[in-house]
Amino acid sequence: MEITFLGTSAGVPTRERNVSALALRPDQSSGWNLFDCGEATQHQIMRSELSLYRLERIFITHLHGDHVYGLFGLLASRGMMMCEAPLSLYGPPGLRELSDTVMRLSELRLPYDLDIIELEPDTTLSLPGVEIKVLTLSHSITSYGYCWIEAQRPGRFDRERARALGLPEGPLYGKLKGGERVFHQGRIIDPAEVLGPTRPGRRIAIAGDNDRPELFGPCGPLDLLVHEATYLQADFDKLPRKFKHTTALQLGKAAEEIGVRHLVATHFSPRYGTPQQMQKIKEEIEIYYTGKLTLAEDFMKIIL
Ligand SMILES: [Zn+2]
Ligand SMILES: [Zn+2]
Repeated sequence: MEITFLGTSAGVPTRERNVSALALRPDQSSGWNLFDCGEATQHQIMRSELSLYRLERIFITHLHGDHVYGLFGLLASRGMMMCEAPLSLYGPPGLRELSDTVMRLSELRLPYDLDIIELEPDTTLSLPGVEIKVLTLSHSITSYGYCWIEAQRPGRFDRERARALGLPEGPLYGKLKGGERVFHQGRIIDPAEVLGPTRPGRRIAIAGDNDRPELFGPCGPLDLLVHEATYLQADFDKLPRKFKHTTALQLGKAAEEIGVRHLVATHFSPRYGTPQQMQKIKEEIEIYYTGKLTLAEDFMKIIL
């Protein structure tokens, strides 16, 4: 599985960071999923290895501009490219009204089927090989977190064993890895002969804006959590008006309690940019959190 960060800034873009968007490509799939689509996400996609032709689903966490203002440009460009593969668009209530209004007033007609699905809070979506739990978070408008829970995965492929059985490298290996039986030199080879024990699926959570990271507790333990850490605690405390965002300190504490193997902090206030400031964020998260920590950057990739 491959995750590419396309935007990691909160509210407004900076020279180094665009606003929120993240691509997730599951194992053995050339198709990919987009989580959030801040302004200029299509430009970020053009600068990455991703192609709009292969985009299959978009999940919007909430309707704030820094998470959704890039959506219609992207949908329109995908249409101008004469991409005819259908696209599913998931998100909170209001997404249909927003989409219908923009598309009607701007006369946007798409050559592909766009299926808009407004998700009810706390539901579970079943897609091939994965269940996605929709969590209601705590923000100024309805904001969702998506828990991506893979089905059990086949065991690891034992190359030595396959060679010992006289199997040539190539398509037969792929079939066996995928759990298919193969016919070779007059006999049927069962995948169990070359695969180790089945492995549990991975649990990944991608959060929308949220000031209560502990809400991911019921999804834990998590292999990966991608969550905002918009402010350092001291800066947040000084804000004359509080917005519903998480501080680095709060995120570290919650991630430690939930049981997160790899934490990726993102959605940083544009006030932070220097390596020293980023180091402070890291240190504040690590006051409580003892697992693997990464501070997201645009175009950073995580392979799981
Ligand atoms: Zn935001
Ligand atoms: Zn927001």
